[in-house]
Amino acid sequence: MEPFPADLIAQIATKLFRESSHTPTTGVPAGVPHGVPAVAPDNIRERLPTIPGMASHPNPLAIPEATHGSFPNVPHAVPVHSMNPSVAPSPMPGSMGSPTMQSPANPTELFGRAAPSASTPAVRPMTQDGLQRFVHGVRHQTPVQRNDCLGGEATRVRTRYDGIAAISSPTSQGLDVGSIRNDFPILNQRVHGQPLAWLDNAATTQKPQVVIDAISEFYATDNSNIHRAAHTLAARATEAYEQARTTVAKFLGARSEKDIVFARGTTEAINLVANTYGLRYLKKGDEILLSMVEHHANIVPWQMVAKRKGAEIKVIPVNDRGEIIMDEYLRLLNPKTRIVSLTHASNSLGTILPVAEMAHMAKRYGARVLVDGAQSVSHMPVNVRSMGCDFFVFSGHKIFGPTGIGALYIAEELHDVLPPWQGGGNMIKNVTFEKTTYSEAPAKFEAGTPNIADAVGLKAALDYVSRIGLPNIAAHEHSLLENATQQLSAIPGLRIIGTAREKVSVISFVLEGHSTEEIGKALDQAGIAVRSGHHCAQPSLRRFGVETTVRPSFSLYNHAGEIDRMVDVVRSLARK
Ligand code: PLP
Repeated sequence: MEPFPADLIAQIATKLFRESSHTPTTGVPAGVPHGVPAVAPDNIRERLPTIPGMASHPNPLAIPEATHGSFPNVPHAVPVHSMNPSVAPSPMPGSMGSPTMQSPANPTELFGRAAPSASTPAVRPMTQDGLQRFVHGVRHQTPVQRNDCLGGEATRVRTRYDGIAAISSPTSQGLDVGSIRNDFPILNQRVHGQPLAWLDNAATTQKPQVVIDAISEFYATDNSNIHRAAHTLAARATEAYEQARTTVAKFLGARSEKDIVFARGTTEAINLVANTYGLRYLKKGDEILLSMVEHHANIVPWQMVAKRKGAEIKVIPVNDRGEIIMDEYLRLLNPKTRIVSLTHASNSLGTILPVAEMAHMAKRYGARVLVDGAQSVSHMPVNVRSMGCDFFVFSGHKIFGPTGIGALYIAEELHDVLPPWQGGGNMIKNVTFEKTTYSEAPAKFEAGTPNIADAVGLKAALDYVSRIGLPNIAAHEHSLLENATQQLSAIPGLRIIGTAREKVSVISFVLEGHSTEEIGKALDQAGIAVRSGHHCAQPSLRRFGVETTVRPSFSLYNHAGEIDRMVDVVRSLARK
């Protein structure tokens, strides 16, 4: 993470000081980041929502330090600088075995580009600094080198999956894409006679065999309703479901599995927060801060609640690259700010938002912070405690898990003060016709029979990702993104929308003289699946004067040959 620029620190301090000038601040104790006065102005404290239980907290505005909790060995809780990029991904027990290796007969046909020659630049070794950047996103000024996702020194071999080529490179510097592709049966097909290139990963990811097996095995052997019966299958199903919760907690670096609520996905989880925190604590005149690059799922629920409560939505603008304008954010923050709800990574532009810094700033005003991780969890390690958010949400289907399951992290201090959202079975302690008492979190937020089998599938997906390692995945995707960005930028008439310095592996573009739908269809004819449309993020695209874009998005099973095929189609359209 980059250090704060000095001028930004000065602005934060000045702004807070100005707003609290009638209130003495008491200096900055050690450990308080960025020189921000540690004690919030009294007027902020007064305007905190009256949350039962908060009063007993010594300083409700204090930023909790990320502490080592019950999951000391969580890979995703490891600070980036301590990761060792030279450690090869561990073998994947879920893999369907090593692909057969043969020497390439015609590599151009196989990979859609010339085979790497002796003069092909060797892969750039991944330095600690490089890893840090991969984990936090892409910088466009980084020199681009082709083919480096697959390891320059690697033995390049041909593998056929129903005629679909892949490269195996058993090095520590790149993923073994050939073996990984073998784990995803859906990739083994042709569309319009061409090998399927799935470049629509921001919409949904494909599922590895281990996930498919976990779901079908659950139904074949363990299926039962949970939490409510003495029989063996109920015990097994309950254990499987609760193990999934523990896995999610570890994956997010949460303190405990009690902090994790299962939901249908990101959308439902945000609605849960809006309808509990929002409806209970928002008042007339309160402000909700959202960024310009939010998905509709992080706009509409807040609009609905704001309308009911008389609260106002304020929008944090972005610059011409699609990056948050931090001094505008600072200007918007004020004691009326009740919640800051931010996407971790934009699904339309790819921008990674500096959510940890933004959360720290929001906390100084007593605001709650929600982070929408739909587009981040599959691309970078997440630690909700060091991020300092109150809520973190994501969808299983964006990270190789099933649809219909996702998770909501709720910081412990909010468990008791949030009301339940939906009522029904599973979330109660005792019911009479006069009165119901509720279970504790997380059961309080999970009314009715949950999606047990897909929680089991989600666990399998997160285990799969953990075995490969998010830093390895991030490095691979970084290469693909740089490669595609460089090639697409060179096409006359093509404009990339969203050129942030920190990006996940998403590219949005428009091509002069061609509708995005036309481009999407032409790519489909070549077997290449990309998204074209507004991506459920209309305000973010309108900021750049467009209604729709073409949006390829890359994942761990994509390779440079697929990007070359996509670029060829777009280039030939551009010539027309
Ligand atoms: N937030 C972001 C950033 C997304 O990209 C998406 C889906 O594309 C969502 C929220 C909504 O996710 P879901 O439809 O799985 O609830």
